[in-house]
Amino acid sequence: MNVEIAASAASAIARSVLAPAAADNDKQGRFSTEAIQELGNAGLLGLMLPSDVGGASLGPRALADVIAALAEVDASVAMVFLMHTLASVTTAAAPRTAAIQEVLKAMASGRHLSTLAFSEAGSRSHFWAPVSRAESLNGDGARLSARKSFVTSAGHAQSYVATALSPNGASATDSTLYLVLAGSAGLTVTGAWDGLGLRANASSPMLLEGCIVPADMRLTEEGGGFPALLNVVLPLFNLGQAAVSLGLCRAATAATIAHLKNAKFEHLGSASLGEALPNLRAQLATMQIETDGLRARIDDTVGHLEHPGDLTMLRVLEVKAAAGETAIAVTSLAMRTCGGAAFSRHTGIERYFRDAHAGAVMAPTNDVLREFIGKALLGLPLF
Ligand SMILES: Cc1cc2nc3c(=O)[nH]c(=O)nc-3n(C[C@H](O)[C@H](O)[C@H](O)COP(=O)(O)OP(=O)(O)OC[C@H]3O[C@@H](n4cnc5c(N)ncnc54)[C@H](O)[C@@H]3O)c2cc1C
Repeated sequence: MNVEIAASAASAIARSVLAPAAADNDKQGRFSTEAIQELGNAGLLGLMLPSDVGGASLGPRALADVIAALAEVDASVAMVFLMHTLASVTTAAAPRTAAIQEVLKAMASGRHLSTLAFSEAGSRSHFWAPVSRAESLNGDGARLSARKSFVTSAGHAQSYVATALSPNGASATDSTLYLVLAGSAGLTVTGAWDGLGLRANASSPMLLEGCIVPADMRLTEEGGGFPALLNVVLPLFNLGQAAVSLGLCRAATAATIAHLKNAKFEHLGSASLGEALPNLRAQLATMQIETDGLRARIDDTVGHLEHPGDLTMLRVLEVKAAAGETAIAVTSLAMRTCGGAAFSRHTGIERYFRDAHAGAVMAPTNDVLREFIGKALLGLPLF
């Protein structure tokens, strides 16, 4: 598989599986197991896994292109895919025990969906500072008890990459990562997911009550959780989240073009809205300019991740903040441009508008990113 094949497989699945069901799944808050099955069959659940476990061994460009293609049709599925890919990359970076090797092979063959269980009720969006603390079982693994506040794919994933403070960690960021398998005793989904947007991605709270994680399922050394969050997860999360925003901008722009061409003023000689109203044409132009600008920013970030340099972390911080706000601006403009037709759900635009609002509040939130960027520019420590 290469980048083009991965992106075109994602587009084909988006057209054939996601498009017919996205509106209804959003309405019902229904998680699409069919979409995950198809992504697995196409080899996309192993997109960034190494070839020795059967993965496609592709990089950030493929991640961005696949996610944008999915989000253009269903941002909920795109977010499920992003969380899985982040969990898979984190698992692949772990010491390769036989148990981890089995999980990686299952992911690459499309039989194992994973996700991230970082955010905790106690530390809210500050995912880098879990309040739960792992208890050491003296060489036999660890016992985890935590209240995880939002877990995408909760109850649908086969495993959860979970953070906890290390048993003997001294600071608020001395954390460790663990892979908790679905079905582990003490692991439960504690509520239904009924969000404003991304309604079909099952981002429910989960409880870990004394879950035993065997020693061979620990993903980092003690205290290695925080560096893994910063170096492995954050860059790809920010890029992937920006790609979700790009897909939403493209979808809103395409839906606006269709509406401006098709909706008519019969009393004005059946002129379309686009023919009749220059302000709507200007608003559409603004949407296109913002969408293309976001695409260029994502390309630039991909370039930085492929060839890291001094500005890479700054660009990584910027891309999610900028993309989240662009998606809100573009989808808001689409709502205004398409008027009551958009408001009354005839066009699909209101789903893009609701989904676009998740980007800003998903951690690191856009406020936190601004705080980090400001500190970085002033040479202050981020944490
Ligand atoms: C659809 C969805 C899916 C999610 N999926 C996952 C998942 O799979 N895994 C996971 O671990 N988490 C997930 N999350 C959780 C997410 O990453 C955040 O942790 C969560 O949205 C934070 O919400 P909160 O109410 O706790 O925010 P709060 O922390 O209470 O923030 C409230 C406000 O304060 C601002 N704020 C907070 N700290 C600062 C600061 N230092 N400086 C300036 N402003 C600040 C925030 O920007 C926000 O505006 C998901 C969230 C959503 C909405």
